[in-house]
Amino acid sequence: MKVIPRDQHCISRKHISDSALKVMARLRDGGHQAYLVGGAVRDLLLGGHPKDFDVATDATPEAVHALFRNSRIIGRRFRIVHVRFGREIIEVTTFRGHHDNDAPQTAENGGNHSRQSASGLLLRDNVYGTLEEDAVRRDLTVNALYYDSGTFEVFDHVHGLRDLERRSICIIGDPAVRFTEDPVRMLRVMRFAAKLGFRIDRDTARAIPGCAHLLAEIPAARLFDEFLKLFLSGHAAATLELLLQHKLLQYLFPGTAHSLQRDMHTLALVRAAMTNTDQRVAADKPVTPAFLLAALLWPAADRQARHLQEHGEPPIPAMHHAAQETIAEATRHISIPRRFSQPMREIWEFQLRLEQRRGRRAAELVDHRRFRAAYDFLLLREQAGEETGGLGAWWTDFQQLPMEQRLQQLAADKGGRGGRRPRKRRTNEAT
Ligand code: ATP
Ligand code: MG
Repeated sequence: MKVIPRDQHCISRKHISDSALKVMARLRDGGHQAYLVGGAVRDLLLGGHPKDFDVATDATPEAVHALFRNSRIIGRRFRIVHVRFGREIIEVTTFRGHHDNDAPQTAENGGNHSRQSASGLLLRDNVYGTLEEDAVRRDLTVNALYYDSGTFEVFDHVHGLRDLERRSICIIGDPAVRFTEDPVRMLRVMRFAAKLGFRIDRDTARAIPGCAHLLAEIPAARLFDEFLKLFLSGHAAATLELLLQHKLLQYLFPGTAHSLQRDMHTLALVRAAMTNTDQRVAADKPVTPAFLLAALLWPAADRQARHLQEHGEPPIPAMHHAAQETIAEATRHISIPRRFSQPMREIWEFQLRLEQRRGRRAAELVDHRRFRAAYDFLLLREQAGEETGGLGAWWTDFQQLPMEQRLQQLAADKGGRGGRRPRKRRTNEAT
């Protein structure tokens, strides 16, 4: 274990949340160890501002809970304690140990096991350990640094500091073993490499092709949680490129990954959606997964809608059915809660209504609650090179007019470029 004294690192208590400092001080006063850990230490050492502060301790969840009135124990697989200070939550995790079931009980782990059984409720994964054991159970070396706010020291058991300096994303231990234990770690590698702008360690990267298929076993709900972190944290564009490079996108969105290989428009559309999302995050504007999902799944929905139209279904029902099928297919891999799939369908179905520039209905579309997202999505399709006959520009001008003038404009347009046009087929789509 390497110990880095206060004058040899750049972490200052000034940049740590008062609540986290309070939690650690009280734990220490109670005779426990307590450290800041994970993303907070990593980001502080990189000179950034952590978004949340996690604490690791040798105190059991019950002991932590007993020390803080404003706390509750959550989780089953991993029991952790949330200590609440107004809107801020400090997550306190008990050091995790090895949980080899067949291992004989030794003097070293005996205490943990008895404590574990005493509480009765603990599951297998809630085996407690020492700081060293806790460090090697974490995913990346740069995520396994500990800061003691009492002595101001940093503890490094897995060469995390070296990898921060090398700007390298490196799995702790044997990558194949760690990916097999939890395949989501492969996605976390992509996420942190993109977020930090680090390169992926060679051995870590080399283990991915052999383990990637294990992602197919991950429950759809957990993949959705990870999807949110991958694409809504402000580094979606970079994350996408890494997922493509390491052939992992196909485990989240197989249909999209397939389209990407045969259709340049899909790549342009998905890239544009990611870049727009990143820009919105950077500007502190709200972002919704529905819009991103609409872009990711549009190629499949659009293709299916055309197919149904070629078989005689009118455009609106064709899009409706295509949406249904596309969502059903996608959710076999990644769950999409209804509160996101519903607006996503509306964005798609709205694309057809935007093509009809006629009558009072068109004039009223602008005031529809889904207009903004649908219009943004139309611009995205154009940005990706889809030919729409200047539809985006038309709506850009049109929506700025007061209702009276919208109606006049529609009357003037009559017989001109308004109305239904057959949509142009994409030229570079493989048949
Ligand atoms: P950020 O919060 O900035 O996204 P973080 O590093 O805090 O980054 P979290 O997802 O909040 O990431 O996880 C907290 C810590 O828990 C990580 O730093 C890591 O040490 C550990 N951890 C999280 N998920 C796993 C996992 N699947 N396997 C092993 N360790 C993990
Ligand atoms: Mg965190």
